Amino acid sequence: MSSLVSALDTALSRVADLADNPSIDYKQLVVVSSWAVAAFEVWLFRRQIACYSLPSPPPELASHLPSETFTKAQSYGRDKTRFSLIKAIYSQLLGWGLIRFGVYASTWAISGRAMGALGLDEGRVITRSLLWITLLTFLTTLPSLPWSYYHTFLKTWLLMAVIGMPILATFLKIIELAGKSFVPWLMLFMIVVQLTLQLIYPTFIQPLFNKLAPLPSGELRERVEKLAGRLGFPLKHLYVIDGSKRSSHSNAYFYGLPWSKHIVIYDTLMEKSSPAEVEAVLAHELGHWYFSHPTKLLLIAQFHLLFTFTLFHIFIHNRSLFSSFDFPSSLAVAGPNGSPSSQPIIIGFMLFQMVLEPLDTVVKFLMNKQTRKYEYQADEFAVRLDKTQELKDALIKLHVDNLSSPHNDPIYSAYHHSHPTLPERLRAMDEFKPGPGLKLKGEKKEL
Ligand SMILES: [Zn+2]
Repeated sequence: MSSLVSALDTALSRVADLADNPSIDYKQLVVVSSWAVAAFEVWLFRRQIACYSLPSPPPELASHLPSETFTKAQSYGRDKTRFSLIKAIYSQLLGWGLIRFGVYASTWAISGRAMGALGLDEGRVITRSLLWITLLTFLTTLPSLPWSYYHTFLKTWLLMAVIGMPILATFLKIIELAGKSFVPWLMLFMIVVQLTLQLIYPTFIQPLFNKLAPLPSGELRERVEKLAGRLGFPLKHLYVIDGSKRSSHSNAYFYGLPWSKHIVIYDTLMEKSSPAEVEAVLAHELGHWYFSHPTKLLLIAQFHLLFTFTLFHIFIHNRSLFSSFDFPSSLAVAGPNGSPSSQPIIIGFMLFQMVLEPLDTVVKFLMNKQTRKYEYQADEFAVRLDKTQELKDALIKLHVDNLSSPHNDPIYSAYHHSHPTLPERLRAMDEFKPGPGLKLKGEKKEL
């Protein structure tokens, strides 16, 4: 085991040496690859926009979309996608400008001067890093403010500062203290952070944005409790949430510890659907629970993090990377007498992420492929619970109501959507053959 680790370590150091080569123009590489990714995205947008000129709905939706609704959905989708296209071009130009005009390096210098003006020692590298990130965040988000609702934006921003800054500071401190062997320590820290956030999010953060109230007793409550009992789902509380900030996919969700779970239903779903349809949507959600999809996604995220940190390990002391982005290359190496505190790790991490960006495109495709697989599994679960028609009806109603795109370009959708499209889901539900494949906990006799 230890020989394997040291072999891996040697291999990584060799790659690190190869990657630290002054003849590699990292800046040019990042500029070219970011334009390539942007061009690919524009191509996808254009493919999707072409879908809004199709004259009739797909056969699966034809009977649910009267021509007036179809036309409305088509023009709404076209406007929305065009807007996203403009936004994407804008943010690409902004990102390119930041690189082209050496803004990363000049803001780093400004943050040092600001520290001096505040009477702080500019050698306090973590404080300076936080200041730098704040400056960069202002620079990148302020010009795009009109795109967002600024109320939510301010709240999100404040929250990011309150939660994100201490996390970032600890993140940097861990790398500073652990030196070259930071990867396992950082992984441990990130796992703790993610689990803590998952625990506190529904109780402390979600209520800042939406109101939660217990689901009143009645037919729906009875149905949900019965379904949970049947599946052995450890239901503790049942809530309704106001759907003002609802994304088009979250109609209901569950959270909590393995032995005590809470279900949350969006009021918008309840308004539009019958209790039986809401129950079918929950049957789908409980399918995610049954197959442990959230845990599996969390595990996948950890592998992705481990992969990212291992690569960062290669780039952390890359002088060529620093100098090609107009930073003094001396910043890439630990200070004299091995004092690591003089090395601004944050710069390396930011630049490294830019180098990695094209890979994120691939990761996006792969992640969506996985979550789509889980969506089909959860749909199949609901089908096996005999909720096919109710689930279809609920999904179609939501789709029509949200004026969701009737047609989706397959590549656009594989890149942008974590869920299969509605026609795909309806088709798949028809193809599931009910069989003895699924045994439910606590209900083995019946199925
Ligand atoms: Zn789902």
